[in-house]
Amino acid sequence: MGRLLKGGLAAGGAVLALGALRRALNPSPRYAAWEKPGYEKFEKKVLVVGGGFGGFTAAKEICDHTKDREDIGVLVIAKDNFFTFWPMVAGIVSSDIDTRNVAQPLRRALITAGASFRRAKLNGIDHENKKIKVDDGLEFPYDHLIISLGGQPNFFGIPGVEEHALHMRGIEDAERIRNRVIERFEEVSLMRGDIPESKLTFVVIGGGPTGVEVASELHTLVHEALAPDYPNIDSHRVRIFLIEGSDDILQELDPVLRRAARTRLANQHIEVKTGTLAEEVTANCVRLKGGEEIAAENVIWTAGNRPNVAINDLDLPVDERNGIKVDSYLQVADYPGIWAIGDCAAIHNVNDENGRGVPPTAQAASQEGKAVAKNVLAAIDGREEDLEEFEYKPMGQLVELGSDFAVNEVMGIRFSGRLAAIFWRLAYLARLSSPQSKAQQAADWILGLFIRPAVTQVHSRKSEE
Ligand SMILES: Cc1cc2nc3c(=O)[nH]c(=O)nc-3n(C[C@H](O)[C@H](O)[C@H](O)COP(=O)(O)OP(=O)(O)OC[C@H]3O[C@@H](n4cnc5c(N)ncnc54)[C@H](O)[C@@H]3O)c2cc1C
Repeated sequence: MGRLLKGGLAAGGAVLALGALRRALNPSPRYAAWEKPGYEKFEKKVLVVGGGFGGFTAAKEICDHTKDREDIGVLVIAKDNFFTFWPMVAGIVSSDIDTRNVAQPLRRALITAGASFRRAKLNGIDHENKKIKVDDGLEFPYDHLIISLGGQPNFFGIPGVEEHALHMRGIEDAERIRNRVIERFEEVSLMRGDIPESKLTFVVIGGGPTGVEVASELHTLVHEALAPDYPNIDSHRVRIFLIEGSDDILQELDPVLRRAARTRLANQHIEVKTGTLAEEVTANCVRLKGGEEIAAENVIWTAGNRPNVAINDLDLPVDERNGIKVDSYLQVADYPGIWAIGDCAAIHNVNDENGRGVPPTAQAASQEGKAVAKNVLAAIDGREEDLEEFEYKPMGQLVELGSDFAVNEVMGIRFSGRLAAIFWRLAYLARLSSPQSKAQQAADWILGLFIRPAVTQVHSRKSEE
């Protein structure tokens, strides 16, 4: 009898614990469907355009700080209904990371927090009537407008880059790079006689974190995922180049970490060329300054970013880099109620002695999102004295070179190797906002220790070219 009772209590406890875990993982939305007022009915309207690191953080922070207020409505408008978790995008190339875990569902998180969401593209601002214009002539009013439209690749006018190179400015781009490698492997498998070197040569232009990660992911894709499935192709015939214009890769990192990264790339037989500028890209070669040519049909451009060109249509002041000019409170000067953050904004870095602005990174955009949320609330309540000047506090940088190696600098502590790779994974897993993605990605990584992922080209050839 006693045993039965204990068993019953244990089973009951387990059911209750599972119920509590389920509720914790699936928090109820702040408003039930029938009690949520429309955005336009709120007394104070905060409109956020862009649902990435800056915009999403700002919207979420405002909702979190106004849980017990009924006067503030938040609406997020973005052209995608997912939030791209950029630090993991390169991992899609080798299939170490699944696309669905990088595309974080925006609606679920925002609706749960109490905000509204519309998927639409910003086309302009009606400054006089304090409205924004989106697709199909629709308009949305605002009292405060936070702009966080991100960035896009900058090709610096180098001939042929835009036409012939792949880039890395979205999840589809990472998939496109993976599909290109598979496409070349399939093509080469059907070839008879001499195979042109250009087919199996991959040139990554740009030795910053994205370029280094992409080059390493290409190596992993070729040597770990594809090699066993293409026994007729000697994977050592594949050449991967990493081209960098300045005198070293990963300029933002400490020289010790740069050296560790260079050694790792050398071990992966990735040919790094520093102090080398690409002058032209054609369909089958990259021309370097000085006359050297690399025969390659596969070029990936990661060498430059610029603010989103969509901000040019907003009638707002921009700096020489074309970022929206803001004051130290992140407000657009002379445009009361308009704020700009993230990669599309030109933000002064009070701690940079060389006068460089805040860098376009996810950590900076998230910090700006938190700061702008506080300042917008202070402005709504007329608490001018509570407006805070933005101060960027860099937390460090993590760069992964394949699944078992990373170079990390965290709050001044530098470390590299396998432990650093585990840290990279745990740090970014913790930062994924969707609990499903966290669980799925953790499970994928654990499974990957035992089963090599099978990589296929799902899209048709045409769409990848
Ligand atoms: C491949 C890659 C890897 C990176 N890795 C790292 C990293 O490891 N660590 C790090 O700190 N930083 C990293 N970054 C930089 C980082 O991702 C950006 O600095 C950060 O995302 C900037 O945040 P944001 O809000 O300005 O833009 P984003 O996060 O890009 O968000 C832009 C938002 O604007 C929306 N949008 C764009 N145009 C329109 C429009 N016309 N109308 C409506 N909505 C629009 C988009 O849908 C999106 O929701 C990486 C960048 C790239 C490209």
